[in-house]
Amino acid sequence: MIPESYDTIDCDVLVIGAGGAGLRAAVAAGEAGCDTVVVTKSLLGKAHTVMAEGGIGAALGNVDPRDNWGVHFADTMLGGQLLNNWRMVEIFAQEVIDRVYELERWGGLFDRTPDGRISQRAFGAHTFWRLAHVGDRTGLELIRTCQDRAVHTPNVTVHMEYTLTTLLKDGDRVAGAVGYRRNDGSFVVFRAKAVVLGSGGWGRMYKHTSNSWEGTGDGAALAYRAGAELLDMEFVQFHPTGMIWPPGARGILVTEAVRGEGGRLYNSLGERFMETYDPKKMELSSRDVVARSIYKEAQAGRGSPHGGAFLDVRHRGAEYIKKRLPSMYEQFHALASVDITKEPMEVGPTIHYTMGGVRVAPETGATTVPGLYAAGEVSGGLHGANRLGGNSLGDILVFGRRAGEAAAAEVAGRVHAAVDERQVEAEQRALLAYLDPHEEGENPYLLHEALQEAMQDDAGIARTEESLTRSLHAIQELCERAPRMRVGGRRILNPGWHTCRDVVNMLVISEAIVRSGLERRESRGSQWRLDFPDLSEEQGKVNYVTYDGGDGMRIRALSREPIPQRLQRLVDEELALRAVTTIPVRPDQRIEGPAVAAAGREA
Ligand SMILES: Cc1cc2nc3c(=O)[nH]c(=O)nc-3n(C[C@H](O)[C@H](O)[C@H](O)COP(=O)(O)OP(=O)(O)OC[C@H]3O[C@@H](n4cnc5c(N)ncnc54)[C@H](O)[C@@H]3O)c2cc1C
Repeated sequence: MIPESYDTIDCDVLVIGAGGAGLRAAVAAGEAGCDTVVVTKSLLGKAHTVMAEGGIGAALGNVDPRDNWGVHFADTMLGGQLLNNWRMVEIFAQEVIDRVYELERWGGLFDRTPDGRISQRAFGAHTFWRLAHVGDRTGLELIRTCQDRAVHTPNVTVHMEYTLTTLLKDGDRVAGAVGYRRNDGSFVVFRAKAVVLGSGGWGRMYKHTSNSWEGTGDGAALAYRAGAELLDMEFVQFHPTGMIWPPGARGILVTEAVRGEGGRLYNSLGERFMETYDPKKMELSSRDVVARSIYKEAQAGRGSPHGGAFLDVRHRGAEYIKKRLPSMYEQFHALASVDITKEPMEVGPTIHYTMGGVRVAPETGATTVPGLYAAGEVSGGLHGANRLGGNSLGDILVFGRRAGEAAAAEVAGRVHAAVDERQVEAEQRALLAYLDPHEEGENPYLLHEALQEAMQDDAGIARTEESLTRSLHAIQELCERAPRMRVGGRRILNPGWHTCRDVVNMLVISEAIVRSGLERRESRGSQWRLDFPDLSEEQGKVNYVTYDGGDGMRIRALSREPIPQRLQRLVDEELALRAVTTIPVRPDQRIEGPAVAAAGREA
């Protein structure tokens, strides 16, 4: 087996990913005059960003003028159980407002208030009505607008249906990436002066997920192998409401906008059970709380026929539902033959989002490897132990732009490193080995299935030391088998071949999730340890960092920088407000007293 020829493409900034983070980074780098290349595994417009439904959280104050970035800051920190990087949250809450208006200037359309401003809807654990939206198709509008802007930005070129499999290094510094074209399997080398990862998150190592086939964690695995650190990997978000029936639709998201628009959760006894778990916020409690509540109801024998709960929005009326939740109406009609204007939906928790990711500097998105940046879902730090719905679309715009700008600034005056042929050849050999016709080997699909079993059953919504250890052993066994994966056929349009590398990446990420989950001996946010059911003050002072120790994966505790007084004050004020009022405060149910005082906060 002789490694083959490859095409070389040079650029200043290589952006891996054409979701919102990648596209926003590319626009920033292109506008700064850098020759910028965007690479995506799928077609332009197909990234996860397009699937986002509910909206973009930004304290525009259009629907409720009491909102401001300070309240958004506090909501995000409290939602993340104070494990968030507070500087990232501060930047995010302040800048997301400009990013939404920028999107509008670029041609993005939003639903409107009666007086013509961008409309905002309620969402879980946001104090005020905050999510700018377009029906339940907000991600589609965001990506449409960003890709339109990107393809019309001078110096930006897009390469679709390419999979990048490894980062090239020049000493300590990242110098590009190697990959292949998915249609014909030909190899490509990108030589770049800086690389921005906008490659999204990971859900495919679980059985039930709202993520598409792309969510295999490639970017974080590439970064880890290149020496970058990962942060908070134990925190994987279960969205409370995925479809659970029929089996083929299991995991597909039922947007939180349904609850934002007034949807109610019931158990099989017809009880609105959120009264028990969070009587103040009810269905609009944070995702971790609602997901656990549904799980507990089902465990107690009060679940829906297929082990979840009923979500009912019928009281809003057919016309309202079809206007505000058109995708949900169509989704249930097409996939489950359920008319949600006449029947309740059956829903249950589904793996949805990854709070953890590549460790980055808050201002620039710089990773711990020189020349490598990360933004969006692939990065960690903003969301702490639990992300609030609507905070990802803002994340990708705010930090995509910052990473693109920082990468552009860094490459000025730099020259390309020479391609290290040994690195390219080693990668080609590793990829071609999966196609060796002389060897019988392991089936990548069976390995993927076994990994999904191990993660869903033992590293899922409820965890213990025993279950996580079982999962770790299963992962270690799969890691031993993975080099023996073999598939038939050639490289042309060969999904089996693509799956081999996906599995390897998912094994890295799964090991990081499980090892970090073992270290965090407490329950916080999405990490629910049945053997450590409470918050631990000590563990609240650290984030866990995953890194390659040379002889295997290592986890270390990183002491958190204390939150400055000016920001702590915002959190304290929000807690005081929550003690006296229901959340979110509906604009038509305004109350006097502390809630009004909150409006006058300097923020
Ligand atoms: C169903 C659903 C609904 C959601 N609703 C909301 C919502 O209402 N509000 C909200 O804030 N968030 C929502 N989210 C979350 C949000 O959509 C995502 O977190 C966000 O869009 C991620 O954007 P991103 O740019 O980081 O990555 P993505 O949009 O996932 O893009 C990743 C890109 O990287 C590319 N890529 C990956 N690996 C490789 C590789 N090896 N080589 C080349 N390219 C690669 C992919 O092809 C893709 O182009 C939702 C998510 C889902 C799944």
